[in-house]
Amino acid sequence: MDTTAFLKSHIRTVPDWPAPGVQFRDITPLLQDPRVFRELIDTFVHRYMDPSLRPSVVAGLDARGFIIGSVLAYELGVGFVPIRKKGKLPFTTVEETYELEYGSATVELHTDAVKAGDRVLLIDDLIATGGTMMAGRRLLEKLGAEVIEGAAIVDLPELGGSRKLLDAGLPLFTLVHFE
Ligand code: 5GP
Repeated sequence: MDTTAFLKSHIRTVPDWPAPGVQFRDITPLLQDPRVFRELIDTFVHRYMDPSLRPSVVAGLDARGFIIGSVLAYELGVGFVPIRKKGKLPFTTVEETYELEYGSATVELHTDAVKAGDRVLLIDDLIATGGTMMAGRRLLEKLGAEVIEGAAIVDLPELGGSRKLLDAGLPLFTLVHFE
């Protein structure tokens, strides 16, 4: 089995969660099995060790982006910064609000988390509409950093997020696609 099929076979689909009609792609089984967790992280490490793609910082999106992003940063020997939902970060922040299907969401980043000239890898577990990753990118750019790539375990291409991010000039790396 190739890596993609191996990883995909460890993602659990939970119907009607968190709302009726939603098929939630649950990545916790990937983390739970040490062989699978290692294969997942090693796949990202292999890509971002390449000198042309090596970031100076890894930024993780709340909350599952923290799990993979922090381990990846550790392995790459670079720092990790969290982009959090509003109200969780204690120091001064910049913030971005984006639209959800119903309502809106706001994410924040500490003003000293990155500096002008940083080459940031922005990571999350999954891209759906792309709104979260787009907001994260805007936050990092507000502080003068460059987002060299967005990465996620899962892409849901039918929701159009990855297309929107690519059209906005953000290169993407995702491992598993669900139609
Ligand atoms: P987007 O902003 O791209 O519409 O949604 C992506 C965000 O919502 C990510 O932070 C992701 O963790 C979460 N998310 C939305 N749907 C799912 C899903 O089916 N599975 C998982 N694991 N996360 C989801």
